[in-house]
Amino acid sequence: MALNHLPAHPPRHTPPRWPGDSLLPCGHLLSHAWDDQTTAAACPSCRQARQGLAETNRAVHALTATPPSPPAGLMPRVLAAVRAHPHPGRLLPLPTIRPTHITEANAAKALRHAVDTTCEALAASCRLTPLSGGEVAITMTLLATYDRPLPEQADTVRRTILTTAHRDLGLSVRAVDLCITDLVPGTDSVT
Ligand SMILES: [Zn+2]
Repeated sequence: MALNHLPAHPPRHTPPRWPGDSLLPCGHLLSHAWDDQTTAAACPSCRQARQGLAETNRAVHALTATPPSPPAGLMPRVLAAVRAHPHPGRLLPLPTIRPTHITEANAAKALRHAVDTTCEALAASCRLTPLSGGEVAITMTLLATYDRPLPEQADTVRRTILTTAHRDLGLSVRAVDLCITDLVPGTDSVT
């Protein structure tokens, strides 16, 4: 069968309609080939251009449909930068025979470390407020994971904070307030 190299429909010499709109070998504009499906189907050149555009469109949609994931280890580095503030904070009394204090910043560091190493959630920030009677109130913000129920993660963090504060630091804790400020993929999700 002889191929007909002539355009299957008469060329339209219209000005470009898109930025980057170009003239196809058949004499039609790329924008025309894309917009006018019926007549473009009869022209090999327009048909090929449409297919190329459709493939490009599919590839672009596939790329934009995939949410970007942060590089491995980014979250701990961000947290480390956020935590590296130079303020030691207030002094908290420890229950020792001779007067001993720990800075709020160091007590918070110990609690965050305990949560980060034993819990699914990550500690974002931690504050300790000295109260009357030598007690403290602890406020921690968390990055929880999608993988586990949030109440379960919060309970684990609360237990870890109470255990560490009481056993390791000797602090008497009156209240632990937790706030989940973000959700991140869990370690099970990281590939
Ligand atoms: Zn054409």
